[in-house]
Amino acid sequence: MKIVEHFINGAHVGSTDTAGSFADVFDPNSGNVQARVSLASVEDLEHAIAAAQIAQIGWANMNPQRRARVMFRFKELIERDRAELGRLLSSEHGKVLADADGDIQRGLEVIEFCCGVPQLLKGDYSFGAGPGIDVWSIRQPLGVVAGITPFNFPAMIPMWMLGPALATGNAFILKPSERTPSVPMRIAELLTEAGLPDGVFNVINGGKEIVEAILDHPAIKAVSFVGSSDVAQAIYSRGTAAGKRVQAMGGAKNHGIVMPDADLDQTIADIVGAAYGSAGERCMALPVIVPVGRATAEAVRERLVDAIDKLKVGISTDPDADYGPVVTSAHRERVEQYIEMAVTEGSELVVDGRGLSLQGYEAGFFLGPTLLDHVTPAMKSYQEEIFGPVLQIVRAESAEEAIGLASRHQYGNGVALFTRDGGTARDYAADVEVGMVGINLPIPVPVAYHSFGGWKRSGFGDHNQYGMEGVRFFTRTKVVTQRWPGKTRGAPAGNSFVIPTLD
Ligand code: NAD
Repeated sequence: MKIVEHFINGAHVGSTDTAGSFADVFDPNSGNVQARVSLASVEDLEHAIAAAQIAQIGWANMNPQRRARVMFRFKELIERDRAELGRLLSSEHGKVLADADGDIQRGLEVIEFCCGVPQLLKGDYSFGAGPGIDVWSIRQPLGVVAGITPFNFPAMIPMWMLGPALATGNAFILKPSERTPSVPMRIAELLTEAGLPDGVFNVINGGKEIVEAILDHPAIKAVSFVGSSDVAQAIYSRGTAAGKRVQAMGGAKNHGIVMPDADLDQTIADIVGAAYGSAGERCMALPVIVPVGRATAEAVRERLVDAIDKLKVGISTDPDADYGPVVTSAHRERVEQYIEMAVTEGSELVVDGRGLSLQGYEAGFFLGPTLLDHVTPAMKSYQEEIFGPVLQIVRAESAEEAIGLASRHQYGNGVALFTRDGGTARDYAADVEVGMVGINLPIPVPVAYHSFGGWKRSGFGDHNQYGMEGVRFFTRTKVVTQRWPGKTRGAPAGNSFVIPTLD
């Protein structure tokens, strides 16, 4: 059986705890255990931190152009091995190959942005701020930083974090999801092949215990987290209490608002892809549709039923499959419980995806597309994140009511509005209490030179992921005010007991 270990100081290492524990890694298509991942001990973390502390000094002192070259080579190596990485990713996650390739692509775009790090790190300079005085600012790395990532984007989300962290001169410790650990290990190997000095990037596998050790460790200066909201909030509290900088992205329940004037053909195609793609296991999925007005609701429902009928659920390597299995049987059970809850709460089960079995893959973690109508804001199944191929229709009478639903929801990751009216779209973009807004776009994940982050219980902390926000998160600013003798300095001054001014 394949064992996924840790990657410390440039090499694969097993846990120092010889009686150490392991977690199963499944093949969601067959339902079989395909590998076991070693769960690190605190001693393993100490080794990684010790290696990172030593390596970080030399890495930070390397000029940014050279660090950018390592990023560039890393990008080329990911492209070289892209198909293999996609297959590996798909085999543990269950997303179809084309979608796995998208996971890699969106991560690569962040690395491309980070290849410009010399430009991104350029500080400000004010010449002659006072007599003989110049003021300049620089961005310096924090030291050793850590990232903790979820199962659903095993390539993209580690790259969101490691790109800006490494390019700006930090050493990085990644704690990936124990459910999809293999791609992060390949990333570590490719970074080494790209010329990253040993110890600058380390991977520690494990669960809650090792996350808590990371949060408490004084040598780790910042933690970037992406995962579910309760964990995100706990990580934010514990990490900041330990004096760290923490950004913690959480769960989501994104609303797709359909106005009566929307182009329904395009809108339905967009909604179906965003609701069911990747089996709904995306924090930017669209699990809630809010049609405005009765006629819109009826038309949307009818077309959704038709579109769902044409969907193909298949194994993740099937090129014709629209989506594959969910990640584990435990996760499938959780989603099924939410469907049951929605029915008990009084929503109408229009399409029931439970009980789907694929010939030859009867033990796989498959779940058909589910559609629920007449869902109301009072229902728990609406208020909570389901994270599966389940779409809920919440009917609204007006645009204000629909936008209010998205604004009042506990989550505020993404939202999409489908309309032909520019004025409605403009007002909605300004007013809605959500961090990432789509207009006639179902999954508004910002491009790599903007940044990613939700509001309310979808994001804890002050900086977003990647883009300049990522650079700011992984650096701190130093401002130097200097005076040198010269013709503009003026006569030497005596003692002064007042706050210095440069007037
Ligand atoms: P998760 O919260 O279960 O796990 C995320 C990470 O935290 C993993 O590395 C896991 O090992 C660790 N972890 C789990 N429980 C922990 C605990 N009690 N204490 C400390 N660490 C713990 O999330 P997941 O199931 O892997 O991923 C799905 C969730 O992530 C969904 O809620 C989804 O919306 C969210 N997500 C959010 C974004 C975003 O950018 N906002 C992106 C992707 C996924």
